[in-house]
Amino acid sequence: MQGVTILGATGSIGQSSLRVLRRNADRYRVSALAAHSSAEALAELCLEFQPDYAALVDVQAAARLRELLAASRCPTQVLEGQGALDELAADPASDVVIAAVVGAAGLSSTMSAIKAGKRILLANKESLVMSGALMMEAARAHGAELLPIDSEHNAIFQCLPEQVQTKLGHCDLAGAGVRQVLLTGSGGPFRKLPLEQLASVTVEQAIAHPNWSMGAKISVDSASMMNKGLEYIEARWLFNLKRSDIEVVIHPQSVIHSMVSFKDGSVLAQMGQPDMCTPIAHALAYPQRIDAGVEPLDLLSCGTLSFEKPDPLRYPCLQLAIEACWQGQSATTVLNAANEVAVAAFLEGRVGFTAIPKLCEKALAALSGEACGTLDDILQLDGETRRRCGDWLTQVGH
Ligand code: NDP
Ligand code: MG
Repeated sequence: MQGVTILGATGSIGQSSLRVLRRNADRYRVSALAAHSSAEALAELCLEFQPDYAALVDVQAAARLRELLAASRCPTQVLEGQGALDELAADPASDVVIAAVVGAAGLSSTMSAIKAGKRILLANKESLVMSGALMMEAARAHGAELLPIDSEHNAIFQCLPEQVQTKLGHCDLAGAGVRQVLLTGSGGPFRKLPLEQLASVTVEQAIAHPNWSMGAKISVDSASMMNKGLEYIEARWLFNLKRSDIEVVIHPQSVIHSMVSFKDGSVLAQMGQPDMCTPIAHALAYPQRIDAGVEPLDLLSCGTLSFEKPDPLRYPCLQLAIEACWQGQSATTVLNAANEVAVAAFLEGRVGFTAIPKLCEKALAALSGEACGTLDDILQLDGETRRRCGDWLTQVGH
């Protein structure tokens, strides 16, 4: 029986993870569940899964959770504050940590799980975007096993040979006969919208992804293709890539989740339903396979599969991310922070959709050689960028 901790249990990835765990209760037990402030939702999960611990970052919400669990005589112990997530991530009672907090807020708990040498199912791509080299080095130093559940990276992982899979972050792709990694993306809901209408799209339109059902932040990132940009940076660290090793391809049907092209002309693709339960089940059981509760792909009803080159005018966020990736760690930290501020402002109706790349570009232009060699440097630059971007948004009168 393996113990599993889910950080971000009430979110979209958290829910998909629990669906897989429910079907495989003979192999896994939920040892801890954590979220930010969703007391009612977390209470329900505690009643069903009876974890040893539950944690909420928000102190008042944790008090509410304690009340709810006491009223139902649920023995789960409730912890509170950011420190509680870090502590649970390192708890020896769990073997696997699912890192599914959204945004930079997940960095500290993901690092804590890495330093405790866990098997980490990584959904929280923002933490890797911020701390790439440090995170991969920490995983090696502490013997942590980082397995990607972002569907594209999980697809690439599945297409790679074992000698690469077991050396993520430090692998030799050329030595394994790999020519290129082909990162696919659907292009989001605005792939065909006339460019001049992008500035006036609504939040509802932006979060209505054509193929995947996800949390609000990543849905907006998918519409701007910043998500593909963050994934590009995520892939660079996981698979130890050089610039010429990776290409982004638009594939609107989301049937192929990404591909690997080899020296001998072979191209391997991983296909399946657009359901996160597949990559989660894959990483949970790796190198074995378990039932994810996902219907097999019906090739006869998939229709035509098509591929396009991303248009830089439509997707400026993708271009900014690609440039930031090769510029270095400070640039990717700044880009991620600016994007989180801009997306939150867009979701609150304070700025339009096209303000997102503008704010990111402005934040990147203001970079002046800040150091990013330690976790403290990264957190400081993240905080500074958020303050700066917040001020700019206030100044332009939004
Ligand atoms: P959701 O918004 O659906 O869920 C976010 C989760 O994080 C919730 O449990 C939330 O708790 C918790 N949370 C939010 N803020 C904090 C905080 N400051 N500290 C601790 N916990 C916090 O997001 P998703 O599940 O969509 O995404 C989670 C991560 O997975 C993201 O990094 C995303 O990029 C990645 N991912 C998601 C995919 C998807 O299909 N959804 C696919 C691939 C990657 P509460 O409910 O209390 O607010
Ligand atoms: Mg993805």
